[in-house]
Amino acid sequence: MATAGTAAAAAPRGRQAAGRGLDDENLVFDTTPGVEAITSFDQMGIRDDLLRGIYAYGFEKPSAIQQRAILPIVSGRDVIAQAQSGTGKTSMIALSVCQMVDTASREVQALILSPTRELAQQTEKVILAIGDYINVQAHACIGGKSIGEDIRKLEYGVHVVSGTPGRVCDMIKRRTLRTRSIKLLILDESDEMLSRGFKDQIYDVYRYLPPELQVVLISATLPHEILEITSKFMTEPVRILVKRDELTLEGIKQFFVAVEREEWKFDTLCDLYDTLTITQAVIFCNTKRKVDWLTEKMRSNNFTVSAMHGDMPQKERDAIMSEFRSGVTRVLITTDVWARGIDVQQVSLVINYDLPNNRELYIHRIGRSGRFGRKGVAINFVRNDDIRILRDIEQYYSTQIDEMPMNVADLI
Ligand code: ADP
Ligand code: MG
Repeated sequence: MATAGTAAAAAPRGRQAAGRGLDDENLVFDTTPGVEAITSFDQMGIRDDLLRGIYAYGFEKPSAIQQRAILPIVSGRDVIAQAQSGTGKTSMIALSVCQMVDTASREVQALILSPTRELAQQTEKVILAIGDYINVQAHACIGGKSIGEDIRKLEYGVHVVSGTPGRVCDMIKRRTLRTRSIKLLILDESDEMLSRGFKDQIYDVYRYLPPELQVVLISATLPHEILEITSKFMTEPVRILVKRDELTLEGIKQFFVAVEREEWKFDTLCDLYDTLTITQAVIFCNTKRKVDWLTEKMRSNNFTVSAMHGDMPQKERDAIMSEFRSGVTRVLITTDVWARGIDVQQVSLVINYDLPNNRELYIHRIGRSGRFGRKGVAINFVRNDDIRILRDIEQYYSTQIDEMPMNVADLI
C-alpha cells in the first residue's frame, strides 16, 4: 500500500522533501485565537489502539494542519480547516472520525461527503487502514455501485459513511441509511461541495441530519463567498486558514510552454512523453470528449496512455484507478474528476493540456503531484490567447510560472 513508508523512501531527494506546509517553521496560518500546535500524535489524547493504527500506517508526526485541527475536531467543535494540497487534510478526517466513533454501537455516527466517487472510496480505505485495530466499520456510499450492496452493508451496521451526495441522499430517503446517531458531518473539498453544482444536494442531506450536528469543512481552497455562507450552518467554528499567497507549495515547480496554437499542443506532449514516464504523470483536459480524442490520438501514435472520465462505467473507472495506483499504468489523461483529493504518491508531473476553468482548480490540479512534501512539476500548455489567464493565476497566488527549461526531466 502507498503509505508514508514510501514517503521516507522519497526523502533523500533533498531537503525539499520535508517541504513547507509540513514542517512548522515558516508556516503561516490564520487561526482562531487559542488554537495550538500539538507536535506529536501521542499528546493528542488519541486512543491507544488507534495510535497503533496511525503508526502502523506509517505516520510518525502530525503535519502542520493535523497539529492544529485534530484537537478541535475531536473535542466536538465546528471547524473550518484549510491547508495546502497534500499536507494531510483528508488523512486527518479519517483519523478524527476513528477517534470519535463508538465502535460498540452499530449506528452511523459520522458522515463524510466528497465530490467524486474515487475520493469517497479513497477516504473509506484510509479509515479502514488507520482504524484497523479499533475495528471501525466504514462504507463508501457512492453512485455507480450496486444499491443492493449498499443496503446489505448499511443494514449490517457501519460507523462511518464516506460518500457522494447523490447516493447518500438516496440511501437516507430509503431509510437504509439511518441518520439519528450521526453527530458529525464532514465536507471534504468543501468549497466544491458548497458550490453551485452540489449545494442543493448537500442541503438535501443536511435536512435529514440531527440538529445537534457538528460540522467540519476542509479544503485547500476556501474562497470568500464560501466562508461567508458558513454561518448559516455552523456554530462558532474554529478557523484555521491559509493566505492565498501561501497556497502554492515550494516543492511543486510550475512551468509553461508557449504552444501558441491549439494544434501544436499534441506534438509538444509527444516530445514530453519520456519525461512523463519517469515516474507517473496526470494530464488534464477540460472536457471528456477531449480526453477521449487525445487518448485515441496518443495511442495511434504508439504511446501508451490510460484515460479516465465521468462518462465511463464505474467498473472501468475503478479498474483504471487501481492500475494507476499500483503503477501498472504511468500516464493518465483525465478531466477535473481527478483534480481534487486523489492521492497517488508517485505522481510527480501534472500537465495542464488545457488551462483550468478557474483559479481554485489550478491549485487542486497541480497538487496531484508533490504529495506530502515530495517534489512535483506542473507544466501548463498555453496558447497565445491563454497567456492572460496564466498571468492571472500567477498574480492571484503570488507565485512564479517560468518558461519550461530544457532540463525539466532533471527536476522530477
Ligand atoms: P490532503 O487531503 O491535504 O491533500 P492527504 O490526507 O491526502 O492530503 O495526504 C497526502 C499524503 O500524505 C497521503 O499519501 C497521506 O498518506 C500522507 N500523510 C498524511 N498525513 C501524514 C503524516 N502525518 N505523516 C506521513 N504521511 C502523511
Ligand atoms: Mg484531501
